[in-house]
Amino acid sequence: MKGLMMHRPLRIADILSYAAEIHPAAEVVSVRTEGDVHRTTYAALAPRVAQLAHALRAQGMGLGDRVATLAWNGYRHLELYYAISGIGAVCHTINPRLSPEQMLYIIGHAGDRMLFLDLTFVPLIEKLKDHLPAGLRLVVMTDRAHMPDTGFDALCYEDLLDGQPAAIDWPEFDEDTAAGLCYTSGTTGNPKGTLYTHRSTVLHAMMLGLSLPAPLQPGLRILPVVPLFHVNAWGLPYAAPLTGASLIFPGPALDGASLFNLMDAEHVFSAWGVPTVWLGLLAEIRQKGRIPKGFADVVVGGSAAPRSMIAAFEEMGVNVCHAWGMTEMSPVGTQGNLPPHMAGLSLDDRLALKSKQGRRVFGVDLKIVDEAGNRLPHDGIAAGQLYVRGNAICSGYFENPEASAAAIDAAGWFGTGDIASIDADGFLSIQDRAKDLIKSGGEWISSIDLENVVMAHPDVANCAVIAVPHVKWGERPLLVVVPEPGKSPDRQELMDMLGQHFARWQLPDDVVEVDSLPLTATGKVSKLTLRQQYADHRLPEAG
Ligand code: AMP
Repeated sequence: MKGLMMHRPLRIADILSYAAEIHPAAEVVSVRTEGDVHRTTYAALAPRVAQLAHALRAQGMGLGDRVATLAWNGYRHLELYYAISGIGAVCHTINPRLSPEQMLYIIGHAGDRMLFLDLTFVPLIEKLKDHLPAGLRLVVMTDRAHMPDTGFDALCYEDLLDGQPAAIDWPEFDEDTAAGLCYTSGTTGNPKGTLYTHRSTVLHAMMLGLSLPAPLQPGLRILPVVPLFHVNAWGLPYAAPLTGASLIFPGPALDGASLFNLMDAEHVFSAWGVPTVWLGLLAEIRQKGRIPKGFADVVVGGSAAPRSMIAAFEEMGVNVCHAWGMTEMSPVGTQGNLPPHMAGLSLDDRLALKSKQGRRVFGVDLKIVDEAGNRLPHDGIAAGQLYVRGNAICSGYFENPEASAAAIDAAGWFGTGDIASIDADGFLSIQDRAKDLIKSGGEWISSIDLENVVMAHPDVANCAVIAVPHVKWGERPLLVVVPEPGKSPDRQELMDMLGQHFARWQLPDDVVEVDSLPLTATGKVSKLTLRQQYADHRLPEAG
């Protein structure tokens, strides 16, 4: 028997309408690319989002159209998140750290019709303009006074909004309508697109609002260092307005001193980002001999938070929440705030628990399996491939049946590519990565893609790219080469070849020559053995 309750579709636009009415004074503070600090509120943002929505429609955008963004964390980017999805179009966030080749690929694959870019990225688009799809409309996210001379046809963001009505009746559509698109690295080949729905996004915002930081509340001031252009800034653009928390957007400067000063001035309570970013902040805190005013909570994820980092923050009285998730999970899967009955544990015990990746949030189921797909016990010892299932987890990739089929198991669970154990209290511990990827400063590098390019060099017989631990970046790529007999491939030549396909930060930090590569029982290169062999390898810039 079916119940008798209304079925109102979940819509992203309703989050901002709610925030404007119920949390009108909560702030959105942005360090702008124009160089100043901009302040607004959810109440003041809503009419601008309505204007932007009308402007998008005037440009011919509507249901299902992909509208791309290439921008830092700031209020205009937030406005785009809401206006694009509000009219039923799809907000495609582009990661500016991708190589031009990858960027052009995803713009083409997504079928973007408009691209909104921050001032910072005008020179980049000038370089790429002849390779962009015909008909892609470009909008620079600034006002008339700051509009640069661009070498391409560009619209001005504030001009687009000017004169548009400041109210809108958001259209109704099925809650499974696509709302956002975010590409993530494949282990090989091209990036894969996660296509979020209104339903998944709203549910994720509610899950996150309940969980972090224990839980989000009106009046809290949150700094998302995690970018709007990658993993939806961990869902904060939705969870913060929903709960009435203020958003403090850092713009492009993410070094320790800039973050410290912003946090200090804005009394940031909770700051969210990858471990690399917090190393910079910790150095600044040590130099200044104090923490920023009001700072009490840090959410660390994207890569494993080192125990020493957790200890440093906790000893300063800053609560650390170690979280884990993925682009494909909207992205938050677990969070590491300790339940009340564990709050009294010794610092050592707390650090041991917080070094794990936390416990699942509502709406996320976890399972670990062995190589045959059999479920393993949650005893904190057995480690296996981690699979997830839930309300905000992708069921496949955008227009990529092959990657979709590979990602989902027979029972409908999504394979994360992480190797993990789960203890009896539900704490997840990520042990290793089955996917052939390197994560440097929170961003991906595909080992296989690098290897494919290197293998084309005539002096290379075989090669492997592995992750080597790095103090600042977490991991950096090391290229291990087996030369053809009697040859020694020129290092610079290899780097030049790679430089044609990859961003500079994705190139290996070092090259070592070996006679042969270790193999697994099935004859594949054993990356595990290589990683163990080179775990202490000193990279030239590691210091
Ligand atoms: P992304 O889609 O870029 O967010 O990357 C997701 C992947 O990053 C996960 O599958 C993990 O491999 C890794 N990851 C994310 N958070 C953590 C964490 N707290 N500890 C270890 N690895 C993490």
